[in-house]
Amino acid sequence: MTSITQLFQNILKALATLSLLKKAGIGLLFFLFFTSAFSQDSKDWYAIDSRMARDHNVCKKLQGNVLVYAIWVDTKSSLGWTNYDINTATDSINRAINWIQDQAAKSNIQLHISFDYLSSDTSRTVEQNLPGPVTKVLAADDGIDQLEKWGNRVVNKVYPDYKNKERLVAKLRDQYNVESVVLLYMLNNYYKDDCSITLNAMSNDYVEFAVSSFKVPGLIAHEILHVFGAADLYYHKYSTTKLYKSDLKKMFPNDIMTSPREYISQLEIGPITKYLIGWTDIIDLKYIQYFKEQKSDVRKGRDVIY
Ligand SMILES: [Zn+2]
Repeated sequence: MTSITQLFQNILKALATLSLLKKAGIGLLFFLFFTSAFSQDSKDWYAIDSRMARDHNVCKKLQGNVLVYAIWVDTKSSLGWTNYDINTATDSINRAINWIQDQAAKSNIQLHISFDYLSSDTSRTVEQNLPGPVTKVLAADDGIDQLEKWGNRVVNKVYPDYKNKERLVAKLRDQYNVESVVLLYMLNNYYKDDCSITLNAMSNDYVEFAVSSFKVPGLIAHEILHVFGAADLYYHKYSTTKLYKSDLKKMFPNDIMTSPREYISQLEIGPITKYLIGWTDIIDLKYIQYFKEQKSDVRKGRDVIY
């Protein structure tokens, strides 16, 4: 009897070891799959949390004294800036700024945004070519690198002893006595479809900045809010949280992060955006799920928000 029991016990042990090995094997396969899926440089999907941009980088909370600093850049794929174009774009930026300040006042947030733009002794614009429209540049594996270098070269052209944007931001903070500086690289597009983006909002190593291809006040305000940590609340091809985004569109149809192309006076800043830009530290638990996103554009620890 003892030997039969022992035999059974041995069989059971062998089965258990087999199943453990099997589980370990499957585990190893999953591990290898995920490692290979997430270890390449680009065009992979990354799980991110949009709260990573909250209270982060140069523009932390959207309050106090803020400077929006435009840089009018001429590239071969965009039009050259004329005085007329600069004036109309300045009007749009001022409308965006006034709208944000009105929204802040409604939420009892102390906020003063001043506006200025880069100019050298000889010109208000900076000529620095990009290999194509922003959408095309970003499609390349090293697209973010290219835009990062382009952003630094623009600064370097006007301030030859500044290697990157960091020095410019430090100088502007002192000069204008502001906590936050929004670097807004403006491209002149007319009847052309390019995109506006914010780079490095979640980065620890690179100064965040926005590139705007539009002169629509709502889109400019949308991009400024991105720099302060706001996330998109509409679906686009670089984000896989399609279901969540369509939920959000229904919940917040007039939010600036949902419908930036609408007439700005009809738009508002909703609870998710208020939380992300630091206007409140309280967020309803039902919104927590919407911070989780899958993004294709997080490369080498840097990020693009469209
Ligand atoms: Zn956006």
